[in-house]
Amino acid sequence: MKIVVLKFGGTSVGTIERIKKVANIIISYIRKRYKVIVVSSAMSGITNDLIKKSKKISNNFDTSEYDVLVSTGEQIACSLISGRLNHLGYKSKSYMGWQIPIITSGTYGSSRITNINVKKINKFLKLGGIPVITGFQGVNLNLRVTTLGRGGSDASAIMLSKFFKAQKCIIYTDVDGVYTTDPNALKNAKKIKIISYEEMLEMASLGAKVMQPASIQDARLNRIDIDVKSSFSKKNGTKITKKKNIISNKIIRGISFTKNDAKVTLIGIKDKPGIAAAIFKPLSLNSINVDMVVQNISANGKETDLTFTIKSEDLYKTQKLIKKNRKIKFRNLIFDKNVSKVSIIGVGMITTPGVTYRMFQALAKKNINILVISTSEIKISVLINKKNITKAISVLHKEFKLDK
Ligand code: ADP
Ligand code: ASP
Ligand code: MG
Repeated sequence: MKIVVLKFGGTSVGTIERIKKVANIIISYIRKRYKVIVVSSAMSGITNDLIKKSKKISNNFDTSEYDVLVSTGEQIACSLISGRLNHLGYKSKSYMGWQIPIITSGTYGSSRITNINVKKINKFLKLGGIPVITGFQGVNLNLRVTTLGRGGSDASAIMLSKFFKAQKCIIYTDVDGVYTTDPNALKNAKKIKIISYEEMLEMASLGAKVMQPASIQDARLNRIDIDVKSSFSKKNGTKITKKKNIISNKIIRGISFTKNDAKVTLIGIKDKPGIAAAIFKPLSLNSINVDMVVQNISANGKETDLTFTIKSEDLYKTQKLIKKNRKIKFRNLIFDKNVSKVSIIGVGMITTPGVTYRMFQALAKKNINILVISTSEIKISVLINKKNITKAISVLHKEFKLDK
């Protein structure tokens, strides 16, 4: 069977009119003699709304009930798509993750797909049916519904492609590909024709919402090529594939940024072994993810300062945990919610010296102060004041000739 997996994101199925368009896209593949497996996200806004409701019911909403609740948006979108296909004379049926079943492991709210039973769907495909499968969810070994983390329908599409041995996996979204930076933030952003899993994974993890980071890990592990396209235009999109398939002379591939970081500084902590661990242990026990960390070199050998960043939604909890932590002493505690992380990403920096200097120099010319720096083999991230974000993206985009 020549199978294609088509995934539609929230905006693509955001209104009835758009769902009608999505049905036409699906039919265009049927006409090209593909067997089509459709994966859909919830209509835009629905998942956010469900999350808000859970918070209103309880500030400690049970995680398993959370998954039951937030997975429901996908059911609506899928039945509407199937309904439209049926209306147009095509045989189609919607399926929820647990009905297939799509098996997951891991914690509620961020599970990962480990297996998919292909029997029922293969039978339906052979009968000429178009299965429309809810993204973002599955069922665990306790037979409870699970979800895959925000943006998780991307992972559903990739794992369906793996288990059904699809020839193509196409992610239909509201932009016509992966750009050098968010095209909704910078007009000059350029579409990237082809990008490696490694670069895409960094771009996504560092804030490019266009693909869910975990889904790119799944794609890379299973060598699934992904096409990212727009459901609103017929333009060519972006291919995400292995490094070997790519020839590029670009040092930097893209720029990502986040808007919801917060910075915490502890002034005057003791400079002795075990202090950093004592600070971070309660944060880790409370599932607070610490991102960038810097510790100053102690001037007097006794005291030092430690700065780290977290998601701003975790700031209140972090504040409380630090204040009640008896294992640490500090002179002052400073919080800053107005920070953003800007990152440049590219495998070219492994072999090209001077990239760090060019980044810092470009920011300095625009008077943008760097608060924290972190690097890996293929990325450099800096923390800056949120008000400078547009200026920073724009100057770095120019510096690394991304608009060329
Ligand atoms: P979907 O609902 O289809 O899953 P998302 O909202 O999750 O769509 O992702 C698409 C959005 O990602 C775009 O509207 C765009 O603003 C944002 N985005 C961020 N960085 C990038 C990038 N580098 N390239 C393309 N889009 C990006
Ligand atoms: N509807 C889910 C979300 O909003 C999953 C997805 O969009 O992929 O996170
Ligand atoms: Mg998404």
